[in-house]
Amino acid sequence: MSSENTSFEQLNLHPSILRALEEAGYATPTPIQAQAIPEVLAGHDLMASAQTGTGKTAAFTLPALNLLATPHPSRSRGPRILVLTPTRELAAQVNEAARKYGKFIRARTVSIVGGMPYPLQNKLLSQPLDILVATPGRLLDHMERGRIDMSRLQMLILDEADRMLDMGFMPDVERICNALPAERQTLLFSATLDGNIGNIARQILRNPKTIQVAAQKEKHANIEQRLHFVDDMNHKNKLLEHLLIDADVNQAIVFTSTKRHADLLAEDLYAAGHKTAALHGDMTQGARNRTLTKLRHGDVRVLVATDVAARGIDVAGITHVINYDLPKFAEDYVHRIGRTGRAGKTGIAVSFASHADRYQVRKIEQFTGQRMEATVIAGFEPKRPAPRTDGPNDRPRSGKKPGGGYKGRNSNASGFRSDDNRSAHPRQGFGDRKPAGNGQRQDAGRGNFSDKKRTEGARRPRTFA
Ligand code: AMP
Repeated sequence: MSSENTSFEQLNLHPSILRALEEAGYATPTPIQAQAIPEVLAGHDLMASAQTGTGKTAAFTLPALNLLATPHPSRSRGPRILVLTPTRELAAQVNEAARKYGKFIRARTVSIVGGMPYPLQNKLLSQPLDILVATPGRLLDHMERGRIDMSRLQMLILDEADRMLDMGFMPDVERICNALPAERQTLLFSATLDGNIGNIARQILRNPKTIQVAAQKEKHANIEQRLHFVDDMNHKNKLLEHLLIDADVNQAIVFTSTKRHADLLAEDLYAAGHKTAALHGDMTQGARNRTLTKLRHGDVRVLVATDVAARGIDVAGITHVINYDLPKFAEDYVHRIGRTGRAGKTGIAVSFASHADRYQVRKIEQFTGQRMEATVIAGFEPKRPAPRTDGPNDRPRSGKKPGGGYKGRNSNASGFRSDDNRSAHPRQGFGDRKPAGNGQRQDAGRGNFSDKKRTEGARRPRTFA
């Protein structure tokens, strides 16, 4: 079904769901929704390749909710729909979407993720529920303790299955699948359906329909991708500050390669007057949730994050994604930039790269099928001219190190601590300029950031906003 001439009404969704969609302000289904919803409503298993930002969450949540419009004959309390996600943040997002779209159908949804206290989860699981959204490890834990009755389960959804595979969750997912009723409908959503994901899908799904939305090259047409070659850490930090003081930046996510760098950079940006918070996997779930709430409410303007923690963030105000460090995997690049340009808006994705990173730039460009245009800002020109990333000489020489870095002759002279800026310290060069908007230092940290802690040399705080 083509999405241009399809309306939600034509998809045969329950009137209570249509009402929720109207309230959400959705006029027409996105392509993945127009294609997936009829197949799921017809009872087929489904494997769909759709990136985040395409409306994939509603593509499975809406037909799943439709199932709930018909009461289940069994009186037991267990879930009728189970959604597995790779991360806690994505689980929270799916849970929120199910609540939003299931508001008038009175769907009872619960999210069970790692890092949250067991007693609370035990209580939630003891109540009747319809939709359970969970990360695999913690779910399996509860299942093995006999805390979840899966006898009513009608639909299993694997969201971002490729990511679950990357994160090593597949053995848990398989064990969960084996413990579910065989008579169920299964949907698998993944950025890619190639390789191992295809094999797994064949094992878990029964005669699935396959849907692929938008060829690789058409993706993210609403996101402008820029590339800045940087000489050294100082140059990188100066550029970052220059970008962040721009009033066009409503909210930004700055990606670093390590948790420690995220903390350090967030602290430096805070000190430079930006409303900043860090988000990474070392933080407790409660701290992560508080930071995400602040981001959603606009109390955080600059979020400094690592890949895992930032996956699934869906905040409409994010206008810019800045790859302070390039991602290790080209696929993560796509997920990172997908944090901006959400729900039909435009966005800007900026990547910093050292000369040694040019092979990684090439890998990303090959993966996305798009060029990142090397961009120079007057007053922030790199000392060395931008290298080619598409030419015959664009190949790592024999000094290539594991992890993609190249130990070039001038690498130390460039000011990076090593050949690979991932290991360099994200300091130097902050605080020369004032931030844009209301992110003045006196506004930035009051009430949350304790200067006392800082002077006492206590553990670095992770939230500064
Ligand atoms: P997702 O790809 O599921 O992460 O969704 C991306 C964003 O698109 C979310 O902010 C959704 O609220 C929004 N969205 C989903 N479906 C529609 C639609 N049919 N019309 C407008 N916005 C939508």
